[in-house]
Amino acid sequence: MSTQSPRDGDMDILAHGLWGGVGFYHQGIKRFAAAFVLGMSPDLLSFGLFHVTRPGWLRLRLAGEISGPPPLSMLPEFVFHAYNLTHSLVIWMALFGLIWMIRKQPPWAFLAWGLHILCDIPTHSSSYFPTPYLWPLHTPFVEGISWATPWFMVTNYGALLAAYLGVFLYGRKRNGKDGMRGGAGD
Ligand SMILES: [Zn+2]
Repeated sequence: MSTQSPRDGDMDILAHGLWGGVGFYHQGIKRFAAAFVLGMSPDLLSFGLFHVTRPGWLRLRLAGEISGPPPLSMLPEFVFHAYNLTHSLVIWMALFGLIWMIRKQPPWAFLAWGLHILCDIPTHSSSYFPTPYLWPLHTPFVEGISWATPWFMVTNYGALLAAYLGVFLYGRKRNGKDGMRGGAGD
């Protein structure tokens, strides 16, 4: 019997994926899926790895036995290193440039990763994983509003709904103009 406490980790990772994918909604399922996963990757490759190593914790969390994110004291050292690497715009830009050079075209879906970092900057408090967006350089941390704040979550998912409705309607209008010149999907 869990009380409906604001959930944080699970919900914001989903929102990250959805925001990452929204711009790729009309580019076929593969591109959308890539952007969706890349949008979640910074958290998957840090907190996600922690959950893989501690499945019992996640089970208790999903069962409502515990709530909130894992306390800092129980997190292994690698999570902090991984968090720095995955949540730095400096690292992200370097990777973006590197992939661009290798593939000879900009890795557009990788923008979803950068968007994740930008979204995290104003939405993390300085007491729990403030976004190290300039790592390894000195980063002035931002005192943000937590994603788990109910009004923020409602606004965020409302905005997501509006964004998907927008791209859906835009696609219908465009398909109408293009006639039967359909792209991927149906
Ligand atoms: Zn994050």
